[in-house]
Amino acid sequence: MFRLWREFERFRGKKENCMTVILTTRGCRWRKCTMCSYWLESRDVNDEMLKKQIDLVFERVDTKLLKIFTSGSFFDENEISTELRRYLVEKAKKLGVEKIIVESRPEFIDEEKLEDFEGLELEVGIGLETANDLVREICINKGFSFFDFFSAAEILKRRGFRVKCYLLLKPPFISEREAILDILESVDKVSKVVDVISINMMNVQRGTLVEKLWKRNLYRPPWLWSAVEVIKKIKKDVEIICDPVAGGKIRGPHNCGKCDREVVNALKLFSVTQDKTLLDLNCECRILWNKSVEIEDFARIPLI
Ligand code: SF4
Ligand SMILES: [Zn+2]
Repeated sequence: MFRLWREFERFRGKKENCMTVILTTRGCRWRKCTMCSYWLESRDVNDEMLKKQIDLVFERVDTKLLKIFTSGSFFDENEISTELRRYLVEKAKKLGVEKIIVESRPEFIDEEKLEDFEGLELEVGIGLETANDLVREICINKGFSFFDFFSAAEILKRRGFRVKCYLLLKPPFISEREAILDILESVDKVSKVVDVISINMMNVQRGTLVEKLWKRNLYRPPWLWSAVEVIKKIKKDVEIICDPVAGGKIRGPHNCGKCDREVVNALKLFSVTQDKTLLDLNCECRILWNKSVEIEDFARIPLI
């Protein structure tokens, strides 16, 4: 079945109510990324079952903003057929939805599919993770290149739609310091072609390679301070969001335990306001974070 909740999103520069839906589909076809187990939520759903989910969702939709996620790619026809995609978009239009936010791997994005969204705002999130092809290939096993991402982003921009780029803070096999640098370099490379960058902090998901490394003490999720540091250092004029999943938990991005909640809340509030002064925070554990940024470089296999 589907999951549904309400949250706030930035819309035309202001805070706006948004309904977020996760539809159960056949899930991601790729299923090989080192950190991801989302596809475990997939089921062998046929068109009739998916249509039923869509109907039930739209009985509840009453917001201008609608996020529709699957455990994979919205534009993969193996997950949502052309017919159902069109059915869903028409329903949204009739109910007064003004903007739809979806996610997709770049290979499924093409001009024809985008035609259905005429008259609506559309934002497509693409999990580029990093602008560095080597890190994406070796550490994440993502299976597409920066060029693939760039081409898909250009198709979206040509039609006047928005591109959201997900960057992964701290893939496995790189140190905390390299992870910070990787995000800063990636932001520089993508900011021309994207409207919003979502900094996704690694959380250790079940059944993944990252979990295996973490269980053997070969991986520590990023410090929340690293996201604070990255955001403060970004000089590009691009919207940045960061909503740390499992923030403060042992499997998620965390600091010392005492300051985690405050830092997570500040990052969330920053995401809807873009006010960097909210990130002027401190805790005694910043000294420890500084030290791990320094010494983690010596404790891993050199890669970049
Ligand atoms: S991160 Fe995205 S592309 Fe990779 S396995 Fe997960 S859903 Fe598929
Ligand atoms: Zn602390």
